[in-house]
Amino acid sequence: MALDSKVPQGPLKDKWTDYKNHINLVNPANKRHIDVIVVGTGLAGGSASATLAELGYNVKSFAYQDSPRRAHSIAAQGGINAAKNYQGDGDSTYRLFYDTVKGGDYRSREANVYRLAEVSANIIDQCVAQGVPFARDYGGLLDNRSFGGVLVSRTFYAKGQTGQQLLLGAYSAMNRQIARGKIEMFNRHEMLDVVVVDGKARGIIARNLVTGEIERHSAHAVVIASGGYGNVYFLSTNAMGSNVTAGWKVHKKGAYFANPCYTQIHPTCIPRSGDYQSKLTLMSESLRNDGRIWVPKNLEDVTAIREGKLKPTQLTEDQRDYYLERRYPAFGNLVPRDVASRAAKERCDAGYGVNATGEAVYLDFKSAIERYGKEQAKLKNINNPTDKEIYNLGKAIVEAKYGNLFQMYEKIVDENPYETPMMIYPATHYTMGGVWVDYNLMTTVDGLYCIGEANFSDHGANRLGASALMQGLADGYFVLPYTIGDYLAAEIRTGKITTDSKEFEEAETAVKERLNFFINKNHWNRVCCVSSMWASVWVHHCFTISVICN
Ligand SMILES: Cc1cc2nc3c(=O)[nH]c(=O)nc-3n(C[C@H](O)[C@H](O)[C@H](O)COP(=O)(O)OP(=O)(O)OC[C@H]3O[C@@H](n4cnc5c(N)ncnc54)[C@H](O)[C@@H]3O)c2cc1C
Repeated sequence: MALDSKVPQGPLKDKWTDYKNHINLVNPANKRHIDVIVVGTGLAGGSASATLAELGYNVKSFAYQDSPRRAHSIAAQGGINAAKNYQGDGDSTYRLFYDTVKGGDYRSREANVYRLAEVSANIIDQCVAQGVPFARDYGGLLDNRSFGGVLVSRTFYAKGQTGQQLLLGAYSAMNRQIARGKIEMFNRHEMLDVVVVDGKARGIIARNLVTGEIERHSAHAVVIASGGYGNVYFLSTNAMGSNVTAGWKVHKKGAYFANPCYTQIHPTCIPRSGDYQSKLTLMSESLRNDGRIWVPKNLEDVTAIREGKLKPTQLTEDQRDYYLERRYPAFGNLVPRDVASRAAKERCDAGYGVNATGEAVYLDFKSAIERYGKEQAKLKNINNPTDKEIYNLGKAIVEAKYGNLFQMYEKIVDENPYETPMMIYPATHYTMGGVWVDYNLMTTVDGLYCIGEANFSDHGANRLGASALMQGLADGYFVLPYTIGDYLAAEIRTGKITTDSKEFEEAETAVKERLNFFINKNHWNRVCCVSSMWASVWVHHCFTISVICN
Protein backbone atom coordinates (compact mmCIF):
# COMPACT_ATOMS: atom_id res chain seq x y z
CA MET A 1 0.00 0.00 0.00
CA ALA A 2 1.34 3.47 -0.90
CA LEU A 3 1.20 5.80 2.10
CA ASP A 4 -0.30 9.23 1.38
CA SER A 5 0.39 11.77 4.10
CA LYS A 6 -2.21 14.18 2.59
CA VAL A 7 -0.11 17.17 3.59
CA PRO A 8 -1.73 20.23 1.98
CA GLN A 9 0.07 22.26 -0.67
CA GLY A 10 1.43 25.75 -0.06
CA PRO A 11 4.00 27.41 2.20
CA LEU A 12 4.54 25.70 5.55
CA LYS A 13 3.22 28.59 7.58
CA ASP A 14 -0.05 28.82 5.61
CA LYS A 15 -0.90 25.13 5.28
CA TRP A 16 -3.08 24.71 8.36
CA THR A 17 -5.00 27.95 7.92
CA ASP A 18 -5.64 27.29 4.22
CA TYR A 19 -6.59 23.71 4.98
CA LYS A 20 -9.15 24.79 7.59
CA ASN A 21 -10.59 27.31 5.14
CA HIS A 22 -11.26 24.65 2.56
CA ILE A 23 -12.26 21.43 4.33
CA ASN A 24 -15.77 20.07 4.36
CA LEU A 25 -17.87 20.94 7.40
CA VAL A 26 -20.78 19.19 9.08
CA ASN A 27 -23.61 21.54 10.02
CA PRO A 28 -24.78 21.59 13.65
CA ALA A 29 -28.08 19.81 12.92
CA ASN A 30 -26.28 16.96 11.15
CA LYS A 31 -23.69 16.57 13.91
CA ARG A 32 -26.50 15.48 16.21
CA HIS A 33 -26.94 12.35 14.07
CA ILE A 34 -23.31 11.32 14.00
CA ASP A 35 -21.67 9.06 16.59
CA VAL A 36 -17.96 8.99 17.37
CA ILE A 37 -16.19 6.42 19.58
CA VAL A 38 -13.11 7.61 21.46
CA VAL A 39 -10.98 4.91 23.09
CA GLY A 40 -8.95 6.53 25.88
CA THR A 41 -9.56 9.42 28.23
CA GLY A 42 -6.04 10.67 28.85
CA LEU A 43 -5.13 14.15 27.71
CA ALA A 44 -5.55 13.24 24.04
CA GLY A 45 -8.79 11.25 24.33
CA GLY A 46 -10.28 13.43 27.08
CA SER A 47 -9.73 16.65 25.18
CA ALA A 48 -10.99 15.11 21.94
CA SER A 49 -14.15 13.71 23.56
CA ALA A 50 -14.98 17.01 25.25
CA THR A 51 -14.40 19.05 22.10
CA LEU A 52 -16.26 16.71 19.73
CA ALA A 53 -19.22 16.68 22.15
CA GLU A 54 -19.12 20.46 22.49
CA LEU A 55 -19.27 20.63 18.69
CA GLY A 56 -22.46 18.54 18.79
CA TYR A 57 -21.36 15.00 17.90
CA ASN A 58 -22.60 12.07 20.03
CA VAL A 59 -19.50 10.72 21.72
CA LYS A 60 -18.93 7.36 23.39
CA SER A 61 -15.76 7.39 25.50
CA PHE A 62 -14.00 4.26 26.73
CA ALA A 63 -11.32 3.74 29.37
CA TYR A 64 -10.23 0.75 31.37
CA GLN A 65 -9.72 2.81 34.51
CA ASP A 66 -12.53 3.50 36.98
CA SER A 67 -12.54 7.17 36.01
CA PRO A 68 -11.19 9.23 33.07
CA ARG A 69 -9.03 11.15 35.50
CA ARG A 70 -6.99 8.04 36.33
CA ALA A 71 -5.51 7.89 32.81
CA HIS A 72 -1.75 7.66 32.67
CA SER A 73 -1.49 11.36 31.68
CA ILE A 74 -1.95 12.06 35.37
CA ALA A 75 1.69 11.01 35.91
CA ALA A 76 3.20 13.81 33.81
CA GLN A 77 5.27 16.02 36.03
CA GLY A 78 7.41 18.61 34.33
CA GLY A 79 5.33 20.71 31.99
CA ILE A 80 3.96 21.54 28.57
CA ASN A 81 5.64 23.60 25.84
CA ALA A 82 4.08 26.57 24.10
CA ALA A 83 5.53 29.30 21.93
CA LYS A 84 4.15 32.22 23.92
CA ASN A 85 7.49 34.01 24.38
CA TYR A 86 6.33 35.33 27.77
CA GLN A 87 9.99 35.47 28.83
CA GLY A 88 10.96 37.68 25.89
CA ASP A 89 13.91 35.37 25.29
CA GLY A 90 13.49 35.05 21.53
CA ASP A 91 10.87 32.31 21.30
CA SER A 92 8.45 32.13 18.37
CA THR A 93 6.26 29.65 16.48
CA TYR A 94 9.14 29.14 14.07
CA ARG A 95 11.66 28.48 16.85
CA LEU A 96 9.41 25.89 18.56
CA PHE A 97 8.91 24.28 15.14
CA TYR A 98 12.66 24.34 14.48
CA ASP A 99 13.62 22.98 17.92
CA THR A 100 11.07 20.17 17.58
CA VAL A 101 12.22 19.18 14.09
CA LYS A 102 15.85 19.25 15.23
CA GLY A 103 14.96 17.42 18.46
CA GLY A 104 13.22 14.81 16.30
CA ASP A 105 16.45 14.14 14.43
CA TYR A 106 14.95 15.69 11.24
CA ARG A 107 12.61 12.72 10.95
CA SER A 108 9.46 14.68 11.78
CA ARG A 109 6.67 15.47 9.35
CA GLU A 110 7.33 19.19 9.12
CA ALA A 111 3.78 20.29 8.22
CA ASN A 112 2.43 18.57 11.34
CA VAL A 113 5.13 20.05 13.56
CA TYR A 114 4.51 23.57 12.26
CA ARG A 115 0.80 23.12 13.00
CA LEU A 116 1.68 21.83 16.47
CA ALA A 117 3.82 24.90 17.17
CA GLU A 118 1.03 27.16 15.87
CA VAL A 119 -1.68 25.73 18.12
CA SER A 120 0.60 25.40 21.17
CA ALA A 121 -0.28 28.91 22.32
CA ASN A 122 -4.03 28.15 22.08
CA ILE A 123 -3.59 25.16 24.39
CA ILE A 124 -2.33 27.35 27.23
CA ASP A 125 -5.23 29.82 26.78
CA GLN A 126 -7.72 26.94 26.71
CA CYS A 127 -6.33 25.38 29.88
CA VAL A 128 -6.10 28.68 31.76
CA ALA A 129 -9.75 29.31 30.86
CA GLN A 130 -10.59 25.89 32.35
CA GLY A 131 -8.86 26.93 35.57
CA VAL A 132 -5.68 24.87 35.30
CA PRO A 133 -3.45 26.34 38.03
CA PHE A 134 -0.24 26.93 36.08
CA ALA A 135 2.65 28.32 38.13
CA ARG A 136 2.84 32.09 38.17
CA ASP A 137 5.72 34.48 38.71
CA TYR A 138 6.00 37.23 41.33
CA GLY A 139 3.97 39.61 39.16
CA GLY A 140 1.14 37.08 38.73
CA LEU A 141 1.93 36.23 35.11
CA LEU A 142 2.31 32.64 33.91
CA ASP A 143 5.78 31.34 34.70
CA ASN A 144 8.03 29.21 32.46
CA ARG A 145 11.00 26.96 32.90
CA SER A 146 13.48 25.30 30.55
CA PHE A 147 13.61 21.71 29.37
CA GLY A 148 16.52 19.92 27.75
CA GLY A 149 17.66 20.59 24.20
CA VAL A 150 16.41 24.16 23.83
CA LEU A 151 17.83 27.60 24.59
CA VAL A 152 14.60 29.34 25.68
CA SER A 153 12.16 28.98 28.59
CA ARG A 154 8.83 27.89 27.12
CA THR A 155 7.63 25.18 29.47
CA PHE A 156 4.42 25.96 31.38
CA TYR A 157 4.02 23.93 34.54
CA ALA A 158 2.00 23.30 37.68
CA LYS A 159 4.66 22.36 40.24
CA GLY A 160 5.57 18.72 39.50
CA GLN A 161 1.93 17.83 38.72
CA THR A 162 1.33 19.36 35.30
CA GLY A 163 -0.29 16.25 33.80
CA GLN A 164 -2.65 15.88 36.73
CA GLN A 165 -3.82 19.49 36.55
CA LEU A 166 -4.23 19.42 32.76
CA LEU A 167 -6.15 16.16 33.03
CA LEU A 168 -8.48 17.66 35.63
CA GLY A 169 -9.14 20.45 33.12
CA ALA A 170 -9.95 18.00 30.32
CA TYR A 171 -11.98 15.87 32.74
CA SER A 172 -14.07 18.89 33.82
CA ALA A 173 -14.73 19.68 30.15
CA MET A 174 -15.76 16.04 29.63
CA ASN A 175 -17.99 16.05 32.70
CA ARG A 176 -19.90 19.04 31.38
CA GLN A 177 -20.68 17.00 28.25
CA ILE A 178 -21.49 13.85 30.24
CA ALA A 179 -24.01 15.89 32.20
CA ARG A 180 -25.50 17.22 28.91
CA GLY A 181 -25.81 13.66 27.61
CA LYS A 182 -23.40 14.37 24.73
CA ILE A 183 -20.76 11.97 26.07
CA GLU A 184 -21.69 8.47 27.13
CA MET A 185 -18.88 7.35 29.42
CA PHE A 186 -17.86 3.69 29.55
CA ASN A 187 -15.43 3.39 32.48
CA ARG A 188 -13.87 0.00 33.22
CA HIS A 189 -14.29 -1.07 29.59
CA GLU A 190 -11.43 -2.48 27.55
CA MET A 191 -11.49 -2.28 23.78
CA LEU A 192 -10.61 -5.71 22.43
CA ASP A 193 -11.18 -5.20 18.72
CA VAL A 194 -12.17 -2.64 16.15
CA VAL A 195 -14.92 -3.48 13.68
CA VAL A 196 -14.39 -2.63 10.02
CA VAL A 197 -17.39 -2.63 7.67
CA ASP A 198 -16.84 -2.14 3.92
CA GLY A 199 -13.35 -0.80 4.59
CA LYS A 200 -14.50 1.78 7.19
CA ALA A 201 -14.08 1.65 10.97
CA ARG A 202 -17.63 1.33 12.30
CA GLY A 203 -17.27 0.33 15.92
CA ILE A 204 -15.51 -1.65 18.58
CA ILE A 205 -15.87 -4.80 20.65
CA ALA A 206 -15.29 -4.03 24.32
CA ARG A 207 -15.26 -6.04 27.50
CA ASN A 208 -17.05 -4.71 30.55
CA LEU A 209 -14.35 -5.28 33.16
CA VAL A 210 -16.87 -5.36 36.01
CA THR A 211 -19.29 -7.95 34.62
CA GLY A 212 -16.99 -9.61 32.09
CA GLU A 213 -19.61 -9.13 29.40
CA ILE A 214 -18.54 -8.66 25.78
CA GLU A 215 -20.29 -5.67 24.20
CA ARG A 216 -20.71 -4.27 20.67
CA HIS A 217 -20.59 -0.50 20.11
CA SER A 218 -21.05 1.22 16.76
CA ALA A 219 -20.17 4.68 15.43
CA HIS A 220 -19.47 6.58 12.24
CA ALA A 221 -15.79 6.95 13.17
CA VAL A 222 -13.46 5.52 15.80
CA VAL A 223 -10.66 7.46 17.50
CA ILE A 224 -7.87 5.56 19.27
CA ALA A 225 -6.22 7.56 22.07
CA SER A 226 -4.81 4.65 24.02
CA GLY A 227 -1.43 6.12 25.02
CA GLY A 228 2.08 4.73 24.78
CA TYR A 229 3.50 1.24 25.17
CA GLY A 230 6.74 1.75 27.07
CA ASN A 231 6.01 -1.42 29.01
CA VAL A 232 7.18 -3.60 26.14
CA TYR A 233 10.46 -2.79 27.88
CA PHE A 234 10.78 -4.54 31.20
CA LEU A 235 11.27 -1.51 33.45
CA SER A 236 9.76 1.79 32.33
CA THR A 237 8.34 4.93 33.91
CA ASN A 238 4.92 4.12 32.44
CA ALA A 239 1.90 2.89 34.36
CA MET A 240 1.63 -0.89 34.05
CA GLY A 241 -1.56 -0.42 32.03
CA SER A 242 0.26 1.51 29.30
CA ASN A 243 0.40 -1.38 26.92
CA VAL A 244 -0.26 -1.69 23.27
CA THR A 245 -3.42 -3.82 23.23
CA ALA A 246 -5.54 -1.20 21.44
CA GLY A 247 -2.75 -0.26 19.03
CA TRP A 248 -2.07 -3.89 18.23
CA LYS A 249 -5.75 -4.63 17.59
CA VAL A 250 -6.09 -1.79 15.10
CA HIS A 251 -2.85 -2.86 13.45
CA LYS A 252 -4.30 -6.32 12.93
CA LYS A 253 -7.28 -4.67 11.24
CA GLY A 254 -5.08 -2.88 8.71
CA ALA A 255 -3.69 0.21 10.45
CA TYR A 256 0.02 0.55 9.76
CA PHE A 257 2.62 1.16 12.42
CA ALA A 258 5.49 3.63 12.03
CA ASN A 259 8.83 3.62 13.84
CA PRO A 260 7.66 1.25 16.59
CA CYS A 261 11.19 1.07 18.01
CA TYR A 262 11.56 4.86 18.47
CA THR A 263 11.53 4.97 22.22
CA GLN A 264 12.59 7.88 24.33
CA ILE A 265 14.95 7.09 27.17
CA HIS A 266 14.63 9.56 30.03
CA PRO A 267 17.88 10.37 31.82
CA THR A 268 16.49 11.16 35.29
CA CYS A 269 14.72 8.16 36.76
CA ILE A 270 15.23 6.66 40.19
CA PRO A 271 17.62 3.73 39.65
CA ARG A 272 16.51 0.15 39.96
CA SER A 273 16.84 -0.97 43.56
CA GLY A 274 16.64 -4.73 43.17
CA ASP A 275 15.41 -7.65 41.10
CA TYR A 276 11.76 -7.62 42.16
CA GLN A 277 10.51 -4.39 40.67
CA SER A 278 7.77 -3.82 38.11
CA LYS A 279 8.38 -0.21 37.17
CA LEU A 280 10.61 2.81 37.69
CA THR A 281 9.81 6.28 39.01
CA LEU A 282 10.59 9.38 37.02
CA MET A 283 12.30 12.40 38.51
CA SER A 284 11.10 15.25 36.29
CA GLU A 285 13.42 16.72 33.70
CA SER A 286 12.69 20.14 35.21
CA LEU A 287 15.17 19.15 37.93
CA ARG A 288 17.96 19.56 35.39
CA ASN A 289 17.21 23.33 35.43
CA ASP A 290 18.92 23.49 38.82
CA GLY A 291 20.53 20.12 39.46
CA ARG A 292 24.09 19.39 38.33
CA ILE A 293 24.96 15.89 37.14
CA TRP A 294 28.24 14.29 38.16
CA VAL A 295 30.18 11.15 39.04
CA PRO A 296 33.45 10.90 40.98
CA LYS A 297 36.59 11.54 38.95
CA ASN A 298 38.52 8.71 40.58
CA LEU A 299 37.56 5.03 40.56
CA GLU A 300 38.84 4.59 44.15
CA ASP A 301 36.22 7.11 45.30
CA VAL A 302 33.55 5.19 43.38
CA THR A 303 34.50 1.98 45.19
CA ALA A 304 34.56 3.74 48.57
CA ILE A 305 31.11 5.24 47.93
CA ARG A 306 29.67 1.88 46.83
CA GLU A 307 31.09 0.25 49.98
CA GLY A 308 29.59 2.99 52.16
CA LYS A 309 32.99 4.20 53.34
CA LEU A 310 32.68 7.61 51.67
CA LYS A 311 29.75 10.01 51.25
CA PRO A 312 29.28 11.97 48.00
CA THR A 313 29.10 15.19 50.03
CA GLN A 314 32.67 14.55 51.22
CA LEU A 315 34.09 14.88 47.70
CA THR A 316 35.54 18.29 46.88
CA GLU A 317 34.72 20.09 43.63
CA ASP A 318 37.95 18.99 41.96
CA GLN A 319 37.19 15.33 42.81
CA ARG A 320 33.91 15.49 40.82
CA ASP A 321 33.38 15.10 37.10
CA TYR A 322 30.45 17.25 35.93
CA TYR A 323 30.64 15.36 32.67
CA LEU A 324 27.74 17.08 30.84
CA GLU A 325 29.09 20.56 31.62
CA ARG A 326 32.54 19.35 30.55
CA ARG A 327 31.42 17.77 27.27
CA TYR A 328 28.58 20.12 26.24
CA PRO A 329 29.34 23.61 27.57
CA ALA A 330 26.56 25.36 25.55
CA PHE A 331 23.70 23.24 26.93
CA GLY A 332 25.41 21.87 30.04
CA ASN A 333 23.01 19.81 32.14
CA LEU A 334 20.14 20.69 29.79
CA VAL A 335 21.32 18.65 26.81
CA PRO A 336 18.55 16.66 25.06
CA ARG A 337 17.35 13.52 26.80
CA ASP A 338 19.11 11.05 24.52
CA VAL A 339 22.45 12.83 24.94
CA ALA A 340 22.12 12.93 28.74
CA SER A 341 21.06 9.26 28.79
CA ARG A 342 23.90 8.06 26.60
CA ALA A 343 26.44 10.08 28.60
CA ALA A 344 25.22 8.57 31.91
CA LYS A 345 25.40 5.07 30.46
CA GLU A 346 28.87 5.74 29.09
CA ARG A 347 30.12 6.83 32.55
CA CYS A 348 28.46 3.84 34.26
CA ASP A 349 29.80 1.39 31.67
CA ALA A 350 33.24 2.84 32.31
CA GLY A 351 32.85 1.89 35.98
CA TYR A 352 31.86 5.23 37.52
CA GLY A 353 28.27 4.32 38.50
CA VAL A 354 27.65 5.18 42.13
CA ASN A 355 25.17 2.79 43.68
CA ALA A 356 25.42 -0.91 44.46
CA THR A 357 24.23 -1.94 40.98
CA GLY A 358 26.77 0.41 39.35
CA GLU A 359 23.85 2.02 37.52
CA ALA A 360 23.50 5.55 38.90
CA VAL A 361 24.93 9.04 38.62
CA TYR A 362 24.39 12.01 40.93
CA LEU A 363 21.98 14.93 40.44
CA ASP A 364 23.14 17.55 42.91
CA PHE A 365 21.30 20.64 44.17
CA LYS A 366 24.01 22.00 46.48
CA SER A 367 25.07 24.77 44.07
CA ALA A 368 21.47 25.79 43.39
CA ILE A 369 20.63 25.95 47.10
CA GLU A 370 23.68 28.16 47.69
CA ARG A 371 22.99 30.39 44.69
CA TYR A 372 19.32 30.93 45.61
CA GLY A 373 20.24 31.35 49.29
CA LYS A 374 22.72 34.15 48.56
CA GLU A 375 20.24 35.89 46.25
CA GLN A 376 17.52 35.70 48.91
CA ALA A 377 19.86 37.01 51.59
CA LYS A 378 20.58 40.05 49.39
CA LEU A 379 16.88 40.57 48.69
CA LYS A 380 16.13 40.41 52.41
CA ASN A 381 19.01 42.75 53.29
CA ILE A 382 20.74 40.13 55.43
CA ASN A 383 24.40 41.21 55.67
CA ASN A 384 27.04 38.49 56.11
CA PRO A 385 24.54 35.61 56.23
CA THR A 386 25.76 32.41 57.90
CA ASP A 387 26.03 29.18 55.90
CA LYS A 388 22.98 27.89 57.74
CA GLU A 389 20.96 30.98 56.81
CA ILE A 390 22.00 30.69 53.17
CA TYR A 391 21.09 26.99 53.17
CA ASN A 392 17.65 27.60 54.69
CA LEU A 393 16.82 30.47 52.33
CA GLY A 394 18.01 28.51 49.28
CA LYS A 395 16.26 25.34 50.34
CA ALA A 396 12.95 27.21 50.59
CA ILE A 397 13.25 28.26 46.94
CA VAL A 398 14.16 24.77 45.74
CA GLU A 399 11.31 23.37 47.82
CA ALA A 400 8.82 25.81 46.26
CA LYS A 401 9.91 24.71 42.78
CA TYR A 402 10.32 20.98 43.18
CA GLY A 403 9.04 20.13 46.69
CA ASN A 404 6.75 17.25 45.73
CA LEU A 405 9.47 15.62 43.60
CA PHE A 406 11.95 15.79 46.48
CA GLN A 407 9.34 14.30 48.81
CA MET A 408 8.69 11.47 46.36
CA TYR A 409 12.41 10.74 46.07
CA GLU A 410 12.86 10.66 49.84
CA LYS A 411 9.90 8.29 50.25
CA ILE A 412 11.32 5.85 47.70
CA VAL A 413 15.06 6.02 48.39
CA ASP A 414 14.95 7.04 52.07
CA GLU A 415 17.58 9.75 51.56
CA ASN A 416 17.06 13.50 51.91
CA PRO A 417 17.92 15.03 48.51
CA TYR A 418 18.38 18.51 50.02
CA GLU A 419 21.27 17.09 52.06
CA THR A 420 22.78 14.53 49.73
CA PRO A 421 22.68 14.34 45.91
CA MET A 422 19.90 12.34 44.25
CA MET A 423 20.86 9.20 42.34
CA ILE A 424 19.44 8.92 38.82
CA TYR A 425 19.70 6.56 35.85
CA PRO A 426 18.11 6.46 32.36
CA ALA A 427 14.89 4.49 31.73
CA THR A 428 12.33 3.88 28.99
CA HIS A 429 9.80 6.67 29.13
CA TYR A 430 7.88 7.60 25.97
CA THR A 431 7.06 5.90 22.68
CA MET A 432 7.55 8.12 19.67
CA GLY A 433 6.60 5.30 17.32
CA GLY A 434 3.06 4.04 17.04
CA VAL A 435 0.10 3.88 14.70
CA TRP A 436 0.83 5.70 11.41
CA VAL A 437 -1.48 8.65 10.70
CA ASP A 438 -1.80 11.15 7.88
CA TYR A 439 -2.13 14.95 8.21
CA ASN A 440 -5.78 14.39 9.26
CA LEU A 441 -4.67 12.01 12.05
CA MET A 442 -6.42 9.21 10.17
CA THR A 443 -4.78 5.77 10.08
CA THR A 444 -4.56 3.59 6.98
CA VAL A 445 -8.10 2.39 7.76
CA ASP A 446 -10.82 4.83 6.68
CA GLY A 447 -12.64 6.45 9.58
CA LEU A 448 -10.13 5.15 12.11
CA TYR A 449 -8.16 7.95 13.76
CA CYS A 450 -5.30 7.81 16.21
CA ILE A 451 -4.19 10.66 18.48
CA GLY A 452 -1.79 11.38 21.36
CA GLU A 453 1.08 9.09 22.30
CA ALA A 454 -0.61 6.14 20.55
CA ASN A 455 0.13 7.56 17.10
CA PHE A 456 3.60 7.79 15.64
CA SER A 457 3.62 11.45 16.57
CA ASP A 458 4.75 14.50 14.72
CA HIS A 459 8.09 14.47 16.39
CA GLY A 460 10.23 11.99 14.53
CA ALA A 461 12.80 10.54 16.90
CA ASN A 462 11.85 13.17 19.46
CA ARG A 463 14.37 13.81 22.25
CA LEU A 464 12.57 16.79 23.80
CA GLY A 465 10.57 16.99 26.97
CA ALA A 466 7.19 18.74 27.47
CA SER A 467 6.29 17.88 23.86
CA ALA A 468 4.04 14.92 24.56
CA LEU A 469 1.43 16.85 26.54
CA MET A 470 1.51 19.54 23.87
CA GLN A 471 0.89 16.99 21.12
CA GLY A 472 -1.87 15.15 22.99
CA LEU A 473 -3.80 18.34 23.70
CA ALA A 474 -3.14 19.82 20.25
CA ASP A 475 -4.56 16.65 18.67
CA GLY A 476 -7.58 16.53 20.96
CA TYR A 477 -8.58 20.18 21.35
CA PHE A 478 -7.44 21.76 18.10
CA VAL A 479 -6.62 19.35 15.27
CA LEU A 480 -8.89 16.28 15.25
CA PRO A 481 -12.11 18.30 15.80
CA TYR A 482 -11.42 19.95 12.41
CA THR A 483 -9.99 17.06 10.43
CA ILE A 484 -12.61 14.49 11.46
CA GLY A 485 -15.33 16.82 10.17
CA ASP A 486 -13.87 16.57 6.69
CA TYR A 487 -14.46 12.79 6.77
CA LEU A 488 -17.79 12.88 8.60
CA ALA A 489 -19.26 15.37 6.12
CA ALA A 490 -19.69 12.39 3.80
CA GLU A 491 -21.50 10.40 6.52
CA ILE A 492 -24.50 12.66 7.11
CA ARG A 493 -26.81 10.38 5.11
CA THR A 494 -25.45 7.09 6.48
CA GLY A 495 -27.85 6.82 9.42
CA LYS A 496 -27.34 4.78 12.57
CA ILE A 497 -24.74 2.01 12.25
CA THR A 498 -26.23 -1.35 13.20
CA THR A 499 -24.34 -3.74 15.46
CA ASP A 500 -26.24 -6.70 13.98
CA SER A 501 -24.07 -6.98 10.90
CA LYS A 502 -21.92 -10.02 10.13
CA GLU A 503 -18.77 -7.93 10.70
CA PHE A 504 -19.77 -7.26 14.33
CA GLU A 505 -20.78 -10.91 14.72
CA GLU A 506 -17.41 -12.13 13.42
CA ALA A 507 -15.39 -9.65 15.50
CA GLU A 508 -17.27 -10.60 18.67
CA THR A 509 -16.82 -14.32 18.01
CA ALA A 510 -13.10 -13.86 17.39
CA VAL A 511 -12.73 -11.91 20.66
CA LYS A 512 -14.59 -14.58 22.63
CA GLU A 513 -12.48 -17.35 21.12
CA ARG A 514 -9.30 -15.48 21.95
CA LEU A 515 -10.39 -14.94 25.55
CA ASN A 516 -11.31 -18.58 25.90
CA PHE A 517 -7.88 -19.51 24.61
CA PHE A 518 -6.19 -17.43 27.32
CA ILE A 519 -8.54 -18.50 30.08
CA ASN A 520 -7.95 -22.15 29.25
CA LYS A 521 -5.31 -23.16 31.82
CA ASN A 522 -3.41 -25.52 29.52
CA HIS A 523 -2.53 -22.63 27.27
CA TRP A 524 -1.91 -20.29 30.21
CA ASN A 525 1.41 -21.88 31.24
CA ARG A 526 2.68 -21.62 27.70
CA VAL A 527 1.68 -17.94 27.48
CA CYS A 528 3.40 -17.10 30.79
CA CYS A 529 6.51 -18.90 29.72
CA VAL A 530 6.68 -17.05 26.40
CA SER A 531 6.03 -13.64 28.05
CA SER A 532 8.74 -14.07 30.64
CA MET A 533 11.16 -15.15 27.93
CA TRP A 534 10.38 -11.97 25.97
CA ALA A 535 10.67 -9.85 29.10
CA SER A 536 14.20 -11.03 29.68
CA VAL A 537 15.15 -10.51 26.02
CA TRP A 538 13.89 -6.93 26.25
CA VAL A 539 15.69 -6.25 29.50
CA HIS A 540 19.02 -7.09 27.97
CA HIS A 541 18.54 -5.33 24.68
CA CYS A 542 16.19 -2.43 25.20
CA PHE A 543 18.78 0.19 26.00
CA THR A 544 20.98 -0.59 23.06
CA ILE A 545 18.11 -0.77 20.58
CA SER A 546 16.54 2.49 21.71
CA VAL A 547 19.72 4.47 21.79
CA ILE A 548 20.56 3.30 18.29
CA CYS A 549 17.06 4.19 17.12
CA ASN A 550 17.28 7.66 18.60
C1 LIG B 1 6.20 9.65 34.66
C2 LIG B 1 5.90 10.41 33.40
C3 LIG B 1 6.04 11.79 33.37
C4 LIG B 1 5.78 12.50 32.20
N1 LIG B 1 5.94 13.87 32.20
C5 LIG B 1 5.69 14.56 31.06
C6 LIG B 1 5.83 15.98 31.03
O1 LIG B 1 6.19 16.62 32.01
N2 LIG B 1 5.55 16.63 29.87
C7 LIG B 1 5.15 15.98 28.74
O2 LIG B 1 4.90 16.62 27.71
N3 LIG B 1 4.99 14.62 28.75
C8 LIG B 1 5.25 13.91 29.87
N4 LIG B 1 5.10 12.55 29.88
C9 LIG B 1 4.51 11.89 28.70
C10 LIG B 1 2.97 12.12 28.70
O3 LIG B 1 2.49 12.05 30.01
C11 LIG B 1 2.23 11.11 27.86
O4 LIG B 1 2.82 11.02 26.59
C12 LIG B 1 0.78 11.54 27.67
O5 LIG B 1 0.17 11.86 28.89
C13 LIG B 1 -0.02 10.46 26.95
O6 LIG B 1 -1.35 10.89 26.89
P1 LIG B 1 -2.42 10.08 26.06
O7 LIG B 1 -3.72 10.78 26.23
O8 LIG B 1 -1.92 9.87 24.68
O9 LIG B 1 -2.47 8.63 26.76
P2 LIG B 1 -2.76 8.17 28.27
O10 LIG B 1 -2.81 9.29 29.23
O11 LIG B 1 -1.82 7.04 28.54
O12 LIG B 1 -4.23 7.61 28.20
C14 LIG B 1 -4.51 6.37 27.59
C15 LIG B 1 -6.00 6.09 27.76
O13 LIG B 1 -6.33 5.01 26.92
C16 LIG B 1 -7.11 4.09 27.66
N5 LIG B 1 -6.88 2.77 27.06
C17 LIG B 1 -5.70 2.22 26.65
N6 LIG B 1 -5.90 1.02 26.11
C18 LIG B 1 -7.24 0.81 26.15
C19 LIG B 1 -8.09 -0.24 25.74
N7 LIG B 1 -7.61 -1.34 25.14
N8 LIG B 1 -9.43 -0.11 25.96
C20 LIG B 1 -9.94 0.99 26.56
N9 LIG B 1 -9.19 2.02 26.96
C21 LIG B 1 -7.86 1.94 26.76
C22 LIG B 1 -6.67 4.22 29.10
O14 LIG B 1 -7.70 3.80 29.96
C23 LIG B 1 -6.43 5.73 29.16
O15 LIG B 1 -7.66 6.38 29.43
C24 LIG B 1 5.37 11.82 31.04
C25 LIG B 1 5.22 10.43 31.05
C26 LIG B 1 5.51 9.73 32.22
C27 LIG B 1 5.43 8.24 32.18
